Formats: sequence, structure tokens, C-alpha cells
Amino acid sequence: MVSKVIDTYRLHNIRKRYNGRSILDIAQLEIHQGELLSIIGPNGAGKSTLLRLLHFLESPDEGEIHYTGRKIYFPVPLELRRNISMVFQRTVLFNRSVRENVAFGLKVRGVEDRGQVDAVLERLDLRELEHDNARALSGGEAQRVTLAQALVLDPDVLLLDEPTANLDPYNAALIEDIIQAVRERGTSTIVLVSHNVAQAIRLADRVAVVFDGKIAELVEAQGFLDKYKDSRTRAYIEGEIP
Ligand code: ADP
Repeated sequence: MVSKVIDTYRLHNIRKRYNGRSILDIAQLEIHQGELLSIIGPNGAGKSTLLRLLHFLESPDEGEIHYTGRKIYFPVPLELRRNISMVFQRTVLFNRSVRENVAFGLKVRGVEDRGQVDAVLERLDLRELEHDNARALSGGEAQRVTLAQALVLDPDVLLLDEPTANLDPYNAALIEDIIQAVRERGTSTIVLVSHNVAQAIRLADRVAVVFDGKIAELVEAQGFLDKYKDSRTRAYIEGEIP
């Protein structure tokens, strides 16, 4: 039997400008259901802007986005946006306990906690901290809470913007393990922006390399270093482009 690849996203002729300057220009991009797509590229290439479009926080100036087969019109209803969770590099947690921070998303959605909060606290090694004030945590602990806030919702799409930037090895490894586990479960589509090229390749099914708002190449993660073709990709991963 041939299994059919379902696309969570299909982008077609997407253009985004800020102050008249072209920031994104994507002719075509499909992101498959259940895959982990890493996006790498230099600072200012447009990676975060692409994540904001995928989160439907901003609309493209031109082009079409299809989400699970349906064309998207802006503004996008909250109900649809709630299937998508974003984890940012810098986190703002509520001045409440770790547990309340993690449970918050369920509460606003009116979803009953049937043990999801406990399960996710356990998975992210936050059990011992659950009654601590979230604002008093270290950077690594806070980032684990942020990931827990996203995972407790069991989102269809998980958008990760530099989720392990500036973290110590313990917290970075823990977060990587969780991302890996979510990917293996296959029920969420994951898009990861990371400056850590080794991590981006290690965790992904495919890697998109972005330069100047364009996808220069889209390469299978397995064997990436032997498969990419663009000379700018080599320059970027060898540290010649900031
Ligand atoms: P990356 O995530 O790859 O570093 P970004 O998507 O953050 O790149 O930014 C791409 C370009 O768009 C940068 O030149 C940035 O300065 C510009 N930019 C991003 N957001 C805005 C905005 N809201 N208004 C104006 N320019 C922006």
C-alpha cells in the first residue's frame, strides 16, 4: 500500500514586505503532516517571519497558504490558530506557579485536565518545581515550562524558534529529547528554527535553508552534509556567514 503524504501547510507564491522591502519570497513550500522541518539560515534571512506566517499571526502580502487542505483567509479564527503552538526563544511566564503556568492553556480553552498537566510536568522533569513561582526559575527551567505550556495542548503544529538558544547542556539535551519524542509520536507537525546546525539536522526529517527570504534548498536531513548543493549553505554551516 502506498501511504499518502498529507500536507499540513502548502505555501504558494508567498511574499512578505516590511516598509517596502521584500523579506520573504517563497514560490512553493509543503510541510508534511507529522514531519519535523528544520529551517536554517543567517540572521535576518526571514526565518522568524516565516514562523509568524505559519502561526497566522501575520498575513502574507501576496500568495496563498493552505492549511490541512483549506485555503487560509486572514484574520484566521482563534479556533484554528489554537491548533498551533509556538515556543519562542525568550519566554514570558505568568507570576504564578509552574503548575498554573502549564495548566493555563487548558483553562482558557475550557479543556478539562485529565492528567495532561501531571504527565507533561513529569516529561519535562518539572515535578519538583511545580509549586515554585515561574518567574524565579533559571533560563533553562523557564524554557522547559514554556515547552510544557505548548505540549500540554497536544497541538497539531509545534513551531519552535530557537528553543535551546543560550541553554546549558542539561536543559538543551532535555528539550531536544522531548522534541525527538514528539516527532517520533508523529501526531504533531514540527517546524524548528535553529542556529545550531548540528541540532537542526539531527532532529529533522528535512532541512530548509533560507537566504534573503528565499528557500535556497530543501534537503533530506539524513545525509544532509553530503546532499546539499548550494555553495552558500556550505559557507553558512562553516561559519563564514553570520
Ligand atoms: P531571522 O529570523 O532569519 O533572523 P527575521 O524574520 O527576524 O529573520 O527578519 C527578516 C528581516 O525582516 C530582517 O531584516 C528584519 O529586520 C526584518 N523585520 C522583521 N520583522 C519586522 C517588522 N515587524 N518590521 C520591519 N522589519 C522587520
